[in-house]
Amino acid sequence: QHHDGDSSGVGMPRGEQEELHQAITADQLFLEYQPQVDVATGRITGIEALVRWNHPAKGRVPPASFIPIAEETGLIVPLGLWVLNEACRQARNWQDMGLTPVTIAVNVSAKQFADPDFASHVAEALERNRLQSRWLELEVTESVVMQDAERALAMMEQLRALGVRLSIDDFGSGYSSLAALKTFPFDRLKMDRSLVEALPGDKTAVAIASAVISLAQTLKLSVLAEGVETDAQMDFLRQARCEEAQGYRFSKPVPPEEVSRLLQGQLP
Ligand code: C2E
Ligand code: CA
Ligand code: CA
Ligand code: CA
Repeated sequence: QHHDGDSSGVGMPRGEQEELHQAITADQLFLEYQPQVDVATGRITGIEALVRWNHPAKGRVPPASFIPIAEETGLIVPLGLWVLNEACRQARNWQDMGLTPVTIAVNVSAKQFADPDFASHVAEALERNRLQSRWLELEVTESVVMQDAERALAMMEQLRALGVRLSIDDFGSGYSSLAALKTFPFDRLKMDRSLVEALPGDKTAVAIASAVISLAQTLKLSVLAEGVETDAQMDFLRQARCEEAQGYRFSKPVPPEEVSRLLQGQLP
């Protein structure tokens, strides 16, 4: 496949942008779901929806390689809307099956958040699927809200008025600062995998993770550790009173049927 001038600098030829556009309308996107568990009890409390692209020729393309292109080209808006609706539809399905209701968490990118219609899209997705807003959580990174703080704050107020939960994703990655926590009304903090990785052997990692967990507690945010892979990490998190965890230790992202099975296993 040929590459064009690639003025975007992100390495995706124009043909692939067109392909991504088609993917949205041609049923090539699907979602996988990763459980979030209560650290103290091991019960599933939430599920994060993660988008997948099944490319007709190349097979599975990882989101890290197409989400940035979707952001840059604006395709993230229709793509994100599809994800939101599909995740709500699936959450409705699980509830209709009589399974314990769990939160469904959906990732939201900057361009979506900047769309003045975003809150009404969220309201419509909830209504269409008869899903109570308390079961929807929206995950945004710090950069999403810091780009245009005033507008982001107004959007967050609208979303909170609807009753959806807001979490700050990838907290502690890259250049994150504490400003976003001070300014924006988040419900939950998701501690980035990079802070969890070196636990519990690395003293600095232990100090930082402990500080993040107590910071969240002080600010009355619930806290979830991302990328938890080992029992030793779990032991640390339990001791440090981190409330929830997500990672390969419990499950990799899986198809919806597998989530149904996991939820069935924990009926009261
Ligand atoms: P994220 O939101 O931080 O999602 C967590 C990523 O970490 C997922 O990668 C997940 O598969 C991976 N992960 C989970 N547990 C572990 C673990 O224990 N170890 C390791 N090494 N990795 C783990 P994935 O699915 O490839 O998604 C990558 C990123 O793509 C996401 O990071 C998110 O930023 C973005 N993304 C995915 N779906 C969507 C979407 O629907 N909309 C938007 N805007 N972004 C999305
Ligand atoms: Ca996320
Ligand atoms: Ca994350
Ligand atoms: Ca991440």
